[in-house]
Amino acid sequence: MTIQEDVPLAPLTTLQVGGRARYFAELRREDEVREAAHFAKTRGLPLFVLGGGSNVVIADCGWPGLVLRIAIGGITSPRAKEAPGNAVLFSVGAGVHWDDFVAQAVAQNCAGVECLSGIPGSVGGTPVQNVGAYGQEVSDTIESVRALDLKEDRIVVLPKPACGFRYRASIFNSTERSRYIILRVNYRLKRGGAPSLKYADLQRHFARSKTPPSLAETRAAVREIRRSKGMLIVPGDDDCRSAGSFFKNPVLGFEQFKGLAERAASKGLDIPSYAALDAQHKISAAWLVEHSGFSKGYARGAAGISHKHALALINRGDAKASDVVGLKDEIQSGVQEIWGVRLEPEPVFVGF
Ligand SMILES: Cc1cc2nc3c(=O)[nH]c(=O)nc-3n(C[C@H](O)[C@H](O)[C@H](O)COP(=O)(O)OP(=O)(O)OC[C@H]3O[C@@H](n4cnc5c(N)ncnc54)[C@H](O)[C@@H]3O)c2cc1C
Repeated sequence: MTIQEDVPLAPLTTLQVGGRARYFAELRREDEVREAAHFAKTRGLPLFVLGGGSNVVIADCGWPGLVLRIAIGGITSPRAKEAPGNAVLFSVGAGVHWDDFVAQAVAQNCAGVECLSGIPGSVGGTPVQNVGAYGQEVSDTIESVRALDLKEDRIVVLPKPACGFRYRASIFNSTERSRYIILRVNYRLKRGGAPSLKYADLQRHFARSKTPPSLAETRAAVREIRRSKGMLIVPGDDDCRSAGSFFKNPVLGFEQFKGLAERAASKGLDIPSYAALDAQHKISAAWLVEHSGFSKGYARGAAGISHKHALALINRGDAKASDVVGLKDEIQSGVQEIWGVRLEPEPVFVGF
């Protein structure tokens, strides 16, 4: 294990802002992860675990302790792990690029993650905020998570129910934040399963097809739709220098939703919403942003809003973290003032 000093973090993130790590290590094996955690503990250094850097905003002052970049690879051969009912168990290293795993699963005709095609970042990052898109969430297919428990100083395997998955949440970003370093994730997919086509965007895409799409066609469609929204990392596309959606879709109780819908109706507007669990309504954060005076392409100095997606805050070239935070604050205040809803950011703020 090599510990480097004074390492710039911005290039390791998709938003490309922020300062340096005092110490930094890239780790390919589980024993290296334990060793690095021990290094931090014995020196009293704060620890931060970095995956693909696609859901973080690093502060301009950087990180005062040790940053661990998890690069554990390996996707186990599904043939050896075939279970009854066409279920296929994949054990995937936390450092594998998520979309490489999706590509491999689809190539092996395994359903369950095809709608999550094109999401950047690492496999280890996916359970943290229960990554989701186009009608699928990783919690639909996660069987268990193998992790180093820093509190107990031992490796544990957490079965799905212990992970506490909810919309964009799990124990890893809520009750047990900073306790676990995820080493591998085990997914249960279905060989020969049909692709999930729950989302209107996907249904529209295939509206003229005479035969149901294959998993590979669904993956290609998702990537195409994502590209059109700047939600696929494409070299040279300035609109994808982002952390993805910057705000979560607010989930409101019935009374709050009713008040909001009435406020919209008084302006002659109809607010897009989806029924959520427990008589709640999930509201489109993008709609709130766009109906609060922030259009696609809005610029505030070196930070701005993507030309293709109202929820993606972008680094327009040489933005600092403070520019991005300034824009975030401005949008939050604008939405709160007009709609009475406080938007909650989705990315993780590191070193603030
Ligand atoms: C263009 C774009 C599109 C996106 N689209 C979507 C989308 O459709 N749906 C969606 O849900 N998200 C989306 N995202 C957000 C992001 O890609 C996901 O949240 C992704 O899973 C983050 O993984 P990462 O490896 O990059 O994590 P990082 O950004 O490196 O880290 C995020 C958090 O996870 C923790 N973490 C990462 N790896 C580990 C590990 N091994 N052990 C413990 N903790 C860890 C970090 O400490 C941090 O708290 C998008 C982002 C971008 C830039």
